Amino acid sequence: MKDYIIRGIDSKKSFRIFVVSTTNLVEEARRIHNTSPTSTAALGRALTAALLMGITMKSSTHSLTFKIKGNGPIGNIVTVANNNGEVKGYVDNPQVDLPSRLDGKLDVGGIVGKNGQLAVIRDLGLKEPYIGYSNLVSGEIAEDLVHYFYFSEQQPSAINLGVLVDKDISVKAAGGYMLQILPNVEEEDIAKIEGILNNAEPISTLIDKGLSLEEIIEKLFGEFNIEILEKKDVKFKCNCNRERIEGVLISLGYEELNSIIEEDGQAEIVCHFCNTKYNFSKKELLEIVNSMI
Ligand SMILES: [Zn+2]
Repeated sequence: MKDYIIRGIDSKKSFRIFVVSTTNLVEEARRIHNTSPTSTAALGRALTAALLMGITMKSSTHSLTFKIKGNGPIGNIVTVANNNGEVKGYVDNPQVDLPSRLDGKLDVGGIVGKNGQLAVIRDLGLKEPYIGYSNLVSGEIAEDLVHYFYFSEQQPSAINLGVLVDKDISVKAAGGYMLQILPNVEEEDIAKIEGILNNAEPISTLIDKGLSLEEIIEKLFGEFNIEILEKKDVKFKCNCNRERIEGVLISLGYEELNSIIEEDGQAEIVCHFCNTKYNFSKKELLEIVNSMI
């Protein structure tokens, strides 16, 4: 199944629902970053979450950064998405892994850590980005985000993020959904939604069974008559290029660049997000330094 996202609303306008399948792009991220199974699950959940939040942005020039910094061995997790369905991301320590939990699930909470913070940064092209923070509650990411939305954005929501890793450590199925309760919801519908979600299979299981996102919405929320408002492809895409990397070099400053030229005679810059290497010869570095004068 192709990776895509859909956005819908029920006929009574009680909630919005966003559902995304990310199997292929999480597998691509795994190959780029050479992640261990538990790191694949953590990064995959964070990439999926960024896409679900990114699609709510108003303009394609805006970006949403989702950052998790827990006290677990994986270190920082950073993912960035826009409303065009493009996402990129990395983790500090992709190779760390932990034994599975007693219930057989990958120990994402253990690798992320239960203590720490998450940040949601919306860059709307203004002088300052809008940044919201909250403390982690479990390190399982979906639960942490529900907590964030409730306390930092006063938005009651339900979120499910899942990555199934195959025996050969490739990604078998990945995806997620985010349900946002709207102000005019009726009490009895909240109870119904809770009942549905408590009994629902994880999204990654449903995707692994071959269900399309439309079928998943129908299976879970058929009684609410969901109207699909938007559908678009999603993919892993980094927007780095040589010009941007030159900008990074320039931001080091005149003295620092000169000392790199004197000491190393060249520079290799690796993009965190996609691992693309950019090499600059002494001549090219000198040109950059001269352009700064
Ligand atoms: Zn890149």
